Amino acid sequence: MTAEKYSCVTSLPYTHPQAQIMGTGMQGGALNTVDVSKMSLERFASVLPPRRFEEVRAGIHAARPLLAGRIVWNVSSTAHGGGVAEMLTTLLAYARGAGVDARWEVIGGDSRFFALTKRIHNHLHGFNGDRGALGESERAHYEATLASSGEALAAKVKSGDVVILHDPQTAGLIPRLRARGIPVVWRCHVGVDRPNELVRETWRFLARYVAAADATVFSRAAFAWEGLDAERVAIIAPSLDAFAPKNQLLEEAQVDAILAAAGLREGNGSDAPAAFMRMDGTPALVRRRARLTEERPLRHGERFVLQVSRWDALKDPAGVVAGFARFVAPHTDAHLIYAGPDVAGVSDDPEGARVVQRVRKQWAALPHELRERIHLAELPMADAEENAAMVNALQQAATVVVQKSLAEGFGLTVAEAMWKGRAVAASRIGGIQDQIEHGRSGLLLDRPRVLEEFGAAVRQFLDDASSAETMGTAARERVREHFLGPRSLLDYLALLGRLI
Ligand code: UDP
Repeated sequence: MTAEKYSCVTSLPYTHPQAQIMGTGMQGGALNTVDVSKMSLERFASVLPPRRFEEVRAGIHAARPLLAGRIVWNVSSTAHGGGVAEMLTTLLAYARGAGVDARWEVIGGDSRFFALTKRIHNHLHGFNGDRGALGESERAHYEATLASSGEALAAKVKSGDVVILHDPQTAGLIPRLRARGIPVVWRCHVGVDRPNELVRETWRFLARYVAAADATVFSRAAFAWEGLDAERVAIIAPSLDAFAPKNQLLEEAQVDAILAAAGLREGNGSDAPAAFMRMDGTPALVRRRARLTEERPLRHGERFVLQVSRWDALKDPAGVVAGFARFVAPHTDAHLIYAGPDVAGVSDDPEGARVVQRVRKQWAALPHELRERIHLAELPMADAEENAAMVNALQQAATVVVQKSLAEGFGLTVAEAMWKGRAVAASRIGGIQDQIEHGRSGLLLDRPRVLEEFGAAVRQFLDDASSAETMGTAARERVREHFLGPRSLLDYLALLGRLI
């Protein structure tokens, strides 16, 4: 661990700060360019097993001539907040570092467009969300919004380029690009293991766009939609970046200082700086404070259970709070921190503010002794890397990390906590099942809605520190082997190679 820690501090192959959106004018559905850094994959020599590292080198060597002179355009609906933005920020930077001209554009839209795409997102998970319809008037608005983004994109993309569109927000762009003969990959980051009628209806809503793609990518085989040409479906599991502010290993004193600076935990009297390393290798300090709903701050030395998630009903914040209050707090000394983004900072998630309010109300209705043990944290989003450092410090300081989601595409937060050697208890759904091997590298909750089972899993870790540690160590190795960025990158390069 120590060697890795220092290798991440001393190797600084980045050449540009984190992704930043350039330009304005999102309302009309136009396009905004995200400035992508350039990072060298060579630093992975210190974290990947040698055999894996050689595979990465060979894969890049093979892909370079094929992609020479071509731009690989990525299009998503946000550059901040959530797993997709998280992954693109670093994956594209490594692609650029490997000599691939990868670019990132973000589509715009009005609040109706994002309410509608959030509805699609919920439906694709089998949930009815806002109970709104997906009919012809919604289709008309969806297409009209994407028309101007599509026009702007078509003007940039030249023959020989490839476009990777991310998630349902962008699917409507496929036919226009295909009509111009541009190879298009549609990457769907959401999915369910067992589709219900709502899911199928939504597939039908999107099918006329998606069917035109040259390839579709899902996070796991079970997510591939019925009716798609199997030959054109690829499976690529998501991944994390071991060196990003979210995942770099921090000294204990750094963790303490970051949590104290953000107001997430009382300081321990040390004057260590709340320092973290930016993507470009420059040192920075955590300065902003989280907004907390709590009776009193968490004290140094108090154990805590953590869930980090957007404020989304599918992450089940209400269930986490209720399960902790009923089945963990009365039997242990642990606290709970539920941390999510400051909702004002996430543009494509209109539901967030309502969910935060509901959870705050739920907290307020608890008796004082439970309110004292439960802390709701909204982490400032103004500086994505500072936000990431806060999440990192929380994940490294937590005794148990939970992810009690009701639906999940992959669950990057699970991989993040596993990489930090945490004991993780998470729902047996979606890509979480590919990450945790139950009883070896964490615990899977068979019935995520059953609060008693959630409580029992959390208590198992709190009561047995040695099994928590053994599983945490296995969890880290699991991520090292399967879920680090270079593996995803190779999968994408192989797919693009086949397309071209
Ligand atoms: N995240 C964050 N700050 C927050 C809440 C979440 O940086 O306040 C990150 C989290 O660490 C993870 C991503 O957002 O990297 C969430 O990805 P995941 O796949 O778990 O869920 P999604 O939000 O994509 O459904």
